Amino acid sequence: MSENPASVPVPLLDLKAQYATIRHEIRPVLDEVCDAQGFILGPRVEAFEKAVAAYVGTKHAIGMSSGTDSQLAAMMAAGVGPGDDVVTSPYSFFSTAGAVARLGAKAVFCDIEPETFNLDPSRLAAAITPRTKLIQPVHLYGQCADMGPILEVARSKGIPVLEDACQAMGAAYGAKKAGAIGAFGAFSFFPSKNLGGFGDGGMVTTDDDGMATALRALRTHGETSRYHHGMVGGNFRLDALQAAVLHVKLPHLDGWADGRRRNAKEIEALYLEFGGRTYEQGGLQFPREAAGRHHVFNQFVVRVGQGRRESAKEFLAARQIGHAVYYPVPLHLQECFLSWGGKPGSCPEAEKAAQETLALPVFPELTAGQKRFLAWSLAEFSRG
Ligand SMILES: *Cc1c(COP(=O)(O)O)cnc(C)c1O
Repeated sequence: MSENPASVPVPLLDLKAQYATIRHEIRPVLDEVCDAQGFILGPRVEAFEKAVAAYVGTKHAIGMSSGTDSQLAAMMAAGVGPGDDVVTSPYSFFSTAGAVARLGAKAVFCDIEPETFNLDPSRLAAAITPRTKLIQPVHLYGQCADMGPILEVARSKGIPVLEDACQAMGAAYGAKKAGAIGAFGAFSFFPSKNLGGFGDGGMVTTDDDGMATALRALRTHGETSRYHHGMVGGNFRLDALQAAVLHVKLPHLDGWADGRRRNAKEIEALYLEFGGRTYEQGGLQFPREAAGRHHVFNQFVVRVGQGRRESAKEFLAARQIGHAVYYPVPLHLQECFLSWGGKPGSCPEAEKAAQETLALPVFPELTAGQKRFLAWSLAEFSRG
């Protein structure tokens, strides 16, 4: 079993391989949109919104132009503005805090749990002030944050929760899906997300009728009736081509996530079979799925020991194995946010994760040979 597997390139993500399996379904709907020449919102977007609401388990789903704009619009609907705090994770994509800054509010960073990379609920209560308008946990890499205790704190303080579910469509916490747990969820359809469009796109989910109405107005410049504006919004609309593509892809989403989950398990098992060392022995730490959570592995992120990530990247690059760092700089240390008072040491777990994590290929179309070569190479690195 453990003879040296053949060397084969392993890209981090191969969207062409996915497209090959659904091309026959996608091409006709693209033609339909082109023939109809209706591109912004409209029936395709409405049908896709209904499908997402049913999938996630919320009363409403409101199509948006990106994950970033979904976060921004949700924060606007929650009334976030100058003088307000939004408590969130320091270890996320930029927009998690960027959207807060754009509204003139301040992100208050609550350090992460090292096992899941998500906001640590035990630190949440201490981060809340009378200015806290919103709590925004992130379901990083496709695993939900520990929403039970987060919601408990939020309810006790009467603060709404926005889930940054941009990497987590289909993930679950207990019986609830990401985006149906807090007051609202923000999703991204950036092409590399598990449900990826042919461009930018996003969605906000909510059960709240008033919020849904506000979000629909906010995405068209706050228009309450034609050319009458009750509030200032933006151009945050989802387009029909994206909705058409995403609607075709949605029924495949769970199958693709199962493929990612299987690959994650298989690669770890092969790594151990090939003599890969544990983190404690100087090797890799594979991702953990916390009890009661369904991880959809938008990213398959391992930890390499302190000071070994650069050599890991070089080792993998030499073997044509794709990899990426999500994210090398925690948000509290981003230059543009330093005025909020973040310093090295403010969020030690996020800072450690930012130095140690490495995302590896896990996409469902990986071949058996690619998985063996990937696991073999990782095991070899761990012994070096
Ligand atoms: C992708 C992503 C976003 C932003 O989504 P866009 O569609 O790229 O604007 C926000 N938060 C997280 C955690 C993400 O991964």
